[in-house]
Amino acid sequence: MALQALKGMKDVLPNESAKWQYVERIMRALCAKHGFCEIRTPVLEHTELFLRGVGNTTDIVQKEMYTFTDKGDRSVTLRPEGTAGVARAFVEHRMADGALPVKMYYLNVPLFRYERPQAGRLREHHQFGVEMFGAKNAAADAECIALVFELMQELGVKGLRANINSIGCPECRPAYSAALREYLHDNLDNLCETCRTRYEQNPLRILDCKEAKCKEICKNAPKTIDCLCDDCKSHFENLKSCLDVLSIPYTVNPMIVRGLDYYTKTVFEVVSESLGAQSAVCGGGRYDNLVEEVGGSSMPAVGFGMGIERLIIMLENMGIHLPEQKMPDVYIASMGDAAQTEAMKLAYTLRNNGIYAEFDHVGRSFKAQFKYADKISAKAVIVIGESELESGEYKLKDMMLGSETSFRADDVLNAVKNIIG
Ligand SMILES: [Zn+2]
Ligand SMILES: [Zn+2]
Repeated sequence: MALQALKGMKDVLPNESAKWQYVERIMRALCAKHGFCEIRTPVLEHTELFLRGVGNTTDIVQKEMYTFTDKGDRSVTLRPEGTAGVARAFVEHRMADGALPVKMYYLNVPLFRYERPQAGRLREHHQFGVEMFGAKNAAADAECIALVFELMQELGVKGLRANINSIGCPECRPAYSAALREYLHDNLDNLCETCRTRYEQNPLRILDCKEAKCKEICKNAPKTIDCLCDDCKSHFENLKSCLDVLSIPYTVNPMIVRGLDYYTKTVFEVVSESLGAQSAVCGGGRYDNLVEEVGGSSMPAVGFGMGIERLIIMLENMGIHLPEQKMPDVYIASMGDAAQTEAMKLAYTLRNNGIYAEFDHVGRSFKAQFKYADKISAKAVIVIGESELESGEYKLKDMMLGSETSFRADDVLNAVKNIIG
């Protein structure tokens, strides 16, 4: 039996990869303009990094990680999210000793989560993300949100809006958690099983539950923004002012808490109104304690992550045209060994001048070569047979118009450019 890819793992085939390359190009150009440099971290890390960084009580750590013991008897994990590894690298390479803030991005990194595969959210999926270390001001949070807006606008997405919330800090979180527990206390038996375990360890996570009954119970729950300390409160006010200055439309949504333990203060999603429910194009927030959690000194930080598979599906659903695989401009049909050598020479003359040219590699008949040229949508076909070789005049067919001309071999560039433009 032929082998297949693992469940939840997907190939990106040549006719799809042009779309990926297109969004990647835009992402790289934007990051360069905003001063973010690329970081590439290993896909495999010590399991402990995610236990400490992502948090013991999250679904990711409890249920979804690809964790195994390697031959050296170490527990290792395939990265389930992008930020913890970047924070680990920040600490390991003493980046805090250099100029702050440190602005980094990662692009197309594979993430692994053992969960039920859904469209755009496979067991292996890829992310683009941005992290800024050493910037405590709300302007840094606004810069991350603005970068998402600019990216989406360049991709042609309309009706964008940021949903923002503040979930406080270790200073004000305990009082909020107590208020939330008190609110939920009488309904404890009606929560789903997972939320009942969250109640003691991490009640904030209950607000994030997808179960309808939990959502219903949480409807009138106390809001984190009503329980913020002075520092968190003024940070959130500053964020709103920055977004106003940058003309970024936003809504304060107290139900956004994000599924990861490391967030503090700002959490946000960017949504597009043309998408309906489940419309977040990305999520992010501030994680002022993560660097300390993974062994560094106290270091404010903020960032976001965006799934590339989901982004491409979303763009296509919106009817946004993405580039397809590039087809050859010119196909050179030849018959006989001498003509084939000449075809190869011409193809390289064209290629060296930036024109995508193909010639026969399988010894097809003239007829079959024309059929092939049609199949690959070549704009022009050059024909070299014995009589053409003898005369030094080659035929050139315009496949769009169906017209035919001839040219001298040393004039091939001009002749082709006349057709392909
Ligand atoms: Zn606070
Ligand atoms: Zn629940």
